[in-house]
Amino acid sequence: MTQGAVALIDTNALQHNLSRVRAAAPNSRVIAVIKADAYGHGMAQVAHALAAADAFGVARLNEALTLREAGIAHRILLMEGVTTSDELRVAAQKRLQLVVHNVDQIGMLERVRLANPVQVWLKLDIGMHRLGFSPDQFAQAWTRLNECSVISGKPHIMGHFSHADDRTDSTTVEQLSQFERLSEPWQAERSVANSAAILSQPDSHYQWVRPGIMLYGVSPFADSLADAEDLQPVMSLSTQLIAIKHLRQGDTVGYGGAWRCPTDMSIGVAAIGYGDGYPRHAESGTPVLIGDQRTQIVGRVSMDMIAVDLRHAPDAAIGDTVTLWGDGLPVEEVAEHAKTIPYELLCGVTRRVNFKYC
Ligand SMILES: *Cc1c(COP(=O)(O)O)cnc(C)c1O
Repeated sequence: MTQGAVALIDTNALQHNLSRVRAAAPNSRVIAVIKADAYGHGMAQVAHALAAADAFGVARLNEALTLREAGIAHRILLMEGVTTSDELRVAAQKRLQLVVHNVDQIGMLERVRLANPVQVWLKLDIGMHRLGFSPDQFAQAWTRLNECSVISGKPHIMGHFSHADDRTDSTTVEQLSQFERLSEPWQAERSVANSAAILSQPDSHYQWVRPGIMLYGVSPFADSLADAEDLQPVMSLSTQLIAIKHLRQGDTVGYGGAWRCPTDMSIGVAAIGYGDGYPRHAESGTPVLIGDQRTQIVGRVSMDMIAVDLRHAPDAAIGDTVTLWGDGLPVEEVAEHAKTIPYELLCGVTRRVNFKYC
């Protein structure tokens, strides 16, 4: 039976990657970032597999509520905070920790009455220029927030790097020294390191680190693969060959005839396409595996299918497993051929794909 595309999620690999975080940042607690459905891996399942984490980080309130409904009792950090006082009450009731990144949120905390106090994280903008208080507003924000009666204890302080994926870029060191200088006077617990900084900037670890992509077994750096960072890929995306065609020199393959056979040859048709989240921008030449045999896609990716070159896999048969990324084929490499980053490929796997956990 053809079951279509399967995403096999290796929970042992998740746990290995968490221990890799612990080894790199032995004196810090770990906020495992599982926003966007755990980077496409399935949020509740990943949270259960990573129960040894000290906290979970998500972007949105609905993600945090899904985790609570799934029975996750850990600390949960809402990294975009809340926008309305109704959301604030729900968040407090569910014992969520909130990032506070703008003045409106401080105003809300000053006015609201809550049954339970909330732990807040004041966000300092160190150069991303998305969320957070600028260096000249930060002290005032701290003072106002610290006086709010609904917050529990002192605020923690967080920041986020904009260039950490490039180890050669000195911006990260500059942003770190700015973070250190502006946060140090308040004697608060702090967090600034994402995956890239965990592996490359030991001085950025502070009390809490926030790994995302490395937990999923992907290198956070543009210039290295998971293997080199001792990370194990968590997702293997595969499907089956559903047809084999014997074509003549000059025949074209797929929509628009974008690929033309340079010689008489066989192509295979695999049951996966952009409707499953395989990137439509993957160009001819993007690697795939048939069994253990490496070959490549030819022609345009369509919604349900791709065509693959069988010149290097003469024994391929209908029903054979075709791996799009995972063990033996790094998603980093596929991302490069699709002119994107591994984060987007992983997040983009759709719910048509059959997710299995092992
Ligand atoms: C997504 C996110 C992270 C995790 O980043 P990775 O590069 O995946 O490790 C950490 N902190 C914040 C604020 C984030 O939004």
